[in-house]
Amino acid sequence: MRILLCGGAGYIGAHAYVVLVERGHDVVVADNFSNSSPGVLARLRQITGRPVPFQPLDLRDRDAVTGFFAHQAFDAVVHFAALKSVGESCERPLDYFHNNIGGTLNLLHGMREAGVERLVFSSSATVYGDPDHVPVREDARLQVTNPYGRTKLVMEELIGDLCRSDAGFHAANLRYFNPVGAHASGLIGEDPTGIPNNLMPYICQVAVGRRDRLSVFGGDWPTVDGTGVRDYIHVMDLARAHADALDFLVRERRSLTVNVGTGQGVSVLQLVEAFAQAAARRIPYQVVARRPGDVAEVYADPSLAQRTLGWRAELGVEAMCRDAWRWQSQNPQGYPVA
Ligand code: NAD
Ligand code: UDP
Repeated sequence: MRILLCGGAGYIGAHAYVVLVERGHDVVVADNFSNSSPGVLARLRQITGRPVPFQPLDLRDRDAVTGFFAHQAFDAVVHFAALKSVGESCERPLDYFHNNIGGTLNLLHGMREAGVERLVFSSSATVYGDPDHVPVREDARLQVTNPYGRTKLVMEELIGDLCRSDAGFHAANLRYFNPVGAHASGLIGEDPTGIPNNLMPYICQVAVGRRDRLSVFGGDWPTVDGTGVRDYIHVMDLARAHADALDFLVRERRSLTVNVGTGQGVSVLQLVEAFAQAAARRIPYQVVARRPGDVAEVYADPSLAQRTLGWRAELGVEAMCRDAWRWQSQNPQGYPVA
């Protein structure tokens, strides 16, 4: 298939690019580099051994999006492009609505006008908020606790309405749990700008000496060791889920919303310990107050993904830490600045 990756220069998009090219697809990356580096393209070329078709594109620019689709033919779109910081979304909700919801609407318009009828959408476990039960199933109550989460929920709903209105349009909403790790080459990985919000990149930057110590947000959660529990998933497993979702859309000709997680809950301190083992170095930390808006425990019931996509996670926490560390130690400052 000829596939457009919107936001394909970002962390997850870059890994998905590698898997999709390996599966024989013809893949084009489109991005505005608002949260990524052009340096990723050279690395993707190095991994795949071929030039990376790239289109500069800002999804907020409706004319540019429509114009682009008018001159290209695609069989499917994978839509990663979004702003994703929870804290920032509370400070600048309108920017999040404009970029994430407005950008998605422009993309859907462009796809419709060009007759592109398959979409894989990056949703998030954040749509479950603080779940009543774990492991979380797809039919759990949806609730959002911040503007970022709201954009994901609204987009799932808009995409759902479009699918219902048009029997030919099919979408796979992938609800990612906590993506971590990197490609085994160490050439691509997560490269956050500024202070990392998420646990794994923070641990990586402590390990490589960019930060003194990790702050563990709360030691009094009702969990195995008092620290927050999440479902960390290796980004290569997650990348594979996109290829499987595209195959599903072609094969089944129906839409789907599915969890992409391992089904294993891992606490902050368990992840710190696993990383320390993988990197053979101590990770200094201190337990501090809970982070506002955090929840105790979220992990997936991934059985629907297995039944529908034939997908299951294969890589465990050890591989996640080993690969995250390889990336960070080989690229202590992230991608080289051009
Ligand atoms: P990322 O920021 O690394 O990648 C997103 C990419 O989209 C970036 O390259 C950015 O430059 C691009 N982009 C943003 N707005 C754009 C626009 N208007 N036009 C064109 N390009 C634009 O993030 P990621 O971690 O790779 O996440 C990818 C997707 O997965 C996002 O939609 C995110 O919300 C979702 N998600 C991520 C996580 C996570 O923990 N990383 C978890 C759940 C869901
Ligand atoms: N966390 C932490 N210190 C950090 C970042 C995160 O203790 O610097 C904890 C956080 O409270 C949560 C877990 O690590 O229990 C995962 O947080 P992350 O932000 O990576 O993912 P999310 O909370 O969005 O699932």
